[in-house]
Amino acid sequence: MVRHHFRADDVHDFAWAASPDFIFSEEQGSPGAKIKLYLDPKHAHLKDRYVRTSTAALTAYEEWYGKYPYSSLSIVVPPEAGKPAGSMEYPTFVTVAAASEEKPNHYLELVLAHEIAHQYWYGMVANNEFEEAWLDESFATYADEKFLHKQLGLDTKPFYRPYSPAYNRLAEYSWRYKNRADYVNNVYIGGKHVLEDIEQQIGSGKMQEVMKAYFETWKFRHPGTKDFMDVLEKETGRSWQDYFNSHVYGKT
Ligand SMILES: [Zn+2]
Repeated sequence: MVRHHFRADDVHDFAWAASPDFIFSEEQGSPGAKIKLYLDPKHAHLKDRYVRTSTAALTAYEEWYGKYPYSSLSIVVPPEAGKPAGSMEYPTFVTVAAASEEKPNHYLELVLAHEIAHQYWYGMVANNEFEEAWLDESFATYADEKFLHKQLGLDTKPFYRPYSPAYNRLAEYSWRYKNRADYVNNVYIGGKHVLEDIEQQIGSGKMQEVMKAYFETWKFRHPGTKDFMDVLEKETGRSWQDYFNSHVYGKT
């Protein structure tokens, strides 16, 4: 019998992964945080791609939103048979797409950037991911797309093509969406469009200030949709109630 003790401050969730086959490596990700990579052997030759992308993503999000305060970020690449465990986020720990192919396309970078963005939106800004999923999924999708465009020059549109930008209510309990498509169209795609629309109205510089202020004001405090709107109103000096009524709480 072996007993392990793990301790982490300021986290609201945990998960674990184990495999006799993981190829482990540790790299300096951003100035304060190490990247701990647990690779499936099928992707051993892609180690640099994983390290480069996760380091760049963490660095960009720290600059855009605020400091990542933990000492490490663990990244698990599940084997092909572990696909359902892939593409998940937990504080200080993400799983990415399973190692199904030896030459994966840029979905690898997209999932990696998305799950790392969740360290901010869901992880530290610990909103309720079941009751107001748009506050983490849309924010992570908005962030990963910006990172992939700006820093890596990647076009993410092909990956979103199966989904429609049609949405009707973002602030909704997840279990009330009709099906997976309805859920994805609202909490991932629709919310991302709303954030981009707000950015278009107030400008990119101001939008970055809003996101930063939202993160700094609400990290580790479990905000809801109205708290985000309040920050937006404070930063822009005007009411967004009508906009939220028609675009977030329910489309008229
Ligand atoms: Zn997500």
